[in-house]
Amino acid sequence: MIPAILDKERNSPMWPTDIRPPRRLWTLVLTTLAVCAGSGCKSPDTGPVLPITPNDFLAAAAPTFVTATLGDDAADARVRGQAELVRELLFPKSTLVTDVEAASTWPEHPVVYGGPHVNALMRDLAPGLPFVMDAAHLAIGDLDLKGDSYQLVTVLPARSESPSHPEMLLYAGTGPVGVAEINAIGRGNDAILVADVFGPLHTGRWVRAADGTVKAKLGPAGRRIAWRDVSRAGAAGTTIYRFPAELAAAADESDLIDAAQRGLEQAVVMLEMKSPPPLTIYVHPDVRSKQALTGNAGDGHAIPGARALHIVARSPVSVLTSLVAHEATHILAYAAYGAAGTPLLGEGLAVWVSGQYGGGSLDNWEQSLGKHPSLRDMLGPIFRKTAERVAYPSAGLLVKTAVELVGREAVTTHLYGATASTWDAACRAAGTTSDLIEQALARRLERP
Ligand SMILES: [Zn+2]
Repeated sequence: MIPAILDKERNSPMWPTDIRPPRRLWTLVLTTLAVCAGSGCKSPDTGPVLPITPNDFLAAAAPTFVTATLGDDAADARVRGQAELVRELLFPKSTLVTDVEAASTWPEHPVVYGGPHVNALMRDLAPGLPFVMDAAHLAIGDLDLKGDSYQLVTVLPARSESPSHPEMLLYAGTGPVGVAEINAIGRGNDAILVADVFGPLHTGRWVRAADGTVKAKLGPAGRRIAWRDVSRAGAAGTTIYRFPAELAAAADESDLIDAAQRGLEQAVVMLEMKSPPPLTIYVHPDVRSKQALTGNAGDGHAIPGARALHIVARSPVSVLTSLVAHEATHILAYAAYGAAGTPLLGEGLAVWVSGQYGGGSLDNWEQSLGKHPSLRDMLGPIFRKTAERVAYPSAGLLVKTAVELVGREAVTTHLYGATASTWDAACRAAGTTSDLIEQALARRLERP
């Protein structure tokens, strides 16, 4: 029997689903601070820091997105991809500027991507920031975290002393890119969120000391456990499987690894990857344990920036092959092609590689999919608002159709990273049109 819930991976991303009109109080506060910062006001900042959350920030006014240019081309493209995905989905009328463009004039209500090691704007602000971050290190509050998989999501209070800045929403992380999938970490309800490869690690808020400086006040650390590592070599290089150290190895542990390896190899073969990056796979004994540690109750989810995936051990272990093929695709595609431009193509590629969704093969879904939104709608926010059992198989069938039309390479080179607004040009670059793809998909779904 195949568990029907397999592949249920939908996070509860922090993106607010309904953007409320600006609230008067915050508008007033923001305006006051912006005027102060903009006019080079030198008086020290005083008074308590309001615990403004990312959701509050995004609801208060339309943001301007600021991307980063200090990394290499691949890193910059990945940072930009994260920012562009959210802009297109939620704030299509907002603009996206580079850190260099933003440095000459502060954009309104900035949402900044990348820490001081990748974002030139943040590098210039670093001497006055209430945290320290580089590619291998995050110091905030009383924490000193070393490693390349820490992420920080916070609304930074405005600062009027040099280097001054307005209030901003910051998505930053250690590592060469630091912001992979960062939009989906947490629910946006915390003024400060520090996350690691498992998920939220600390939440907190900014407080002002008597001398006017701002410091993070963080709550207790989320629960973390010790792991027992088993490494396995294969077509995807050496993969590290991590099991909770406090549990004895299950009788079918070796079979479980075999099943996962088959999924990983399936992804490497389908994506025709020559030198896939090494992955770490965390195997949680059950959904409750996975949710307790990661905050995510899905059967599997990927952390592309850390090249890690979390899965729940299942019986029979054979069901893990398609789950790992799906989740590994998110990581391998991110490493090879960058961030998906739309959830439609990101999930579609993963469903196509795994060849199934929810225990049913794509061939079966072709017969039973039924009513589904148009391709144009699915490129936008409708995708995440559509039931997963419709959205995911539709996406998989779309990618399957596109691969048959133009080939895998054209799909991953042109369509995978395209956003709704660049979609038509991407289709032309891939040697087809959006209409041709949609017509081919419609023919596939036609029932006699
Ligand atoms: Zn997925």
